[in-house]
Amino acid sequence: MNERSVDELRALHADFSAQYDALVARGLKLDLTRGKPSAEQLDLSGGLLSLPGEGQFRDQAGTDLRNYGGPLGLPELRSIFAGPLRVPVAQLLALGNSSLNLMHDVIVQALLHGVPDGVRPWSREDTVTFLAPVPGYDRHFSICERYGIRMIAVPMTEEGPDPEVVRSLLATDPTIKGMWCVPVYSNPSGVVYSERIVRELVSAPAAPDFRLFWDNAYAVHHLTDARPEPLDVLALAAEAGHPNRPLVFASTSKVTYPGSGVAFFGSSPANIDWIVRNMSVQTIGPDKINQLRHVQLLRDEAGVEAHMAHHRAILEPKFNAVDAIFRERLAPFGAGSWTAPAGGYFVSLDVADGCARRAVALAGQAGIAVTPAGATFPYGDDPRDRNIRIAPTFPALEELGTALGGFSTAVLLAETEALLAGR
Ligand code: PMP
Repeated sequence: MNERSVDELRALHADFSAQYDALVARGLKLDLTRGKPSAEQLDLSGGLLSLPGEGQFRDQAGTDLRNYGGPLGLPELRSIFAGPLRVPVAQLLALGNSSLNLMHDVIVQALLHGVPDGVRPWSREDTVTFLAPVPGYDRHFSICERYGIRMIAVPMTEEGPDPEVVRSLLATDPTIKGMWCVPVYSNPSGVVYSERIVRELVSAPAAPDFRLFWDNAYAVHHLTDARPEPLDVLALAAEAGHPNRPLVFASTSKVTYPGSGVAFFGSSPANIDWIVRNMSVQTIGPDKINQLRHVQLLRDEAGVEAHMAHHRAILEPKFNAVDAIFRERLAPFGAGSWTAPAGGYFVSLDVADGCARRAVALAGQAGIAVTPAGATFPYGDDPRDRNIRIAPTFPALEELGTALGGFSTAVLLAETEALLAGR
């Protein structure tokens, strides 16, 4: 759009304004904000509603799962997910319904008690800092903000967080105690960390109690046949001499039900002892009946794969639609650049600098809710005001098309407004 003359821009602006007015007149009410599975996806796990079934309440060892106990979670469920998550069963816990809850609690525990290898609780440090690859997941950032943890944004590359930036920050700033990582199909960029980057992250010199918050939320959420080989971050970290550095989180939120799934925590034996000790004063054990339901529904690793193939069949057309609509509506004007992820739940769109907030606001006024601009950056502050997270999973395909078409109009109008204002 940049190379056009003022007259051409004025004509485009008039055109996009007319399209936008027509859009507003339609009185739409559409939502592209959160990465939720659609009802059709939830139906794939419908079996959960009638499982485990009357009289079914024992695990393979014969334990009565209705009672207290079993703080590590059901061994059968832990062994189903040990493979895809690359965590040995003995070091993988199956816990409550939310991995975000676990990340939150681990941070609070670290603040109150410190972690293995630490000399004092993090809260006794003058400053605690986390590295936050951007664009990233807003709920990670919210935990840090809530507890006064300073965040430093680290740029993402196509194979993970920029290793040189990470290495130099870790080497010079001992207040850095944590780093957010979504190693597979990152939220929102879809980036999959390469082995080179993972080796960098586990080996870079850092504070002894520095922890990688390894949020493997999308480990099995493929959209293509090109599957990234799961990396064994725990083994790589042990090899690098930092066995306690990674804290692995995952859940079945986007495998079965986001509200009633099962969350996992995996780490070194020392960290597992630490969290089990912390949790023992919090709870007398997780919901093992729900875990049994999950074992019955998913059965084994192949069962998870087959289940995820059904998700893919529903999601692939939606992700294809995002790409097709942006190609049709934005590309002819040189507007926007966006990711075509091979898995996960999001598309990351960059519009022209300074235009994201305006585009989201215009879309909102036309009844199309989009994740607030800036949400993908710590403190909601995208310094270039250009990144927007698109969550295409929840709406039906037709609605998605309408929402994305309308949203594209908002982007085009925002960009032409900005260019005219600058001439
Ligand atoms: N981590 C990431 C990267 C996510 O995208 C999400 C869901 N949007 C979560 C964690 C939330 O996980 P849970 O439902 O297990 O709390």
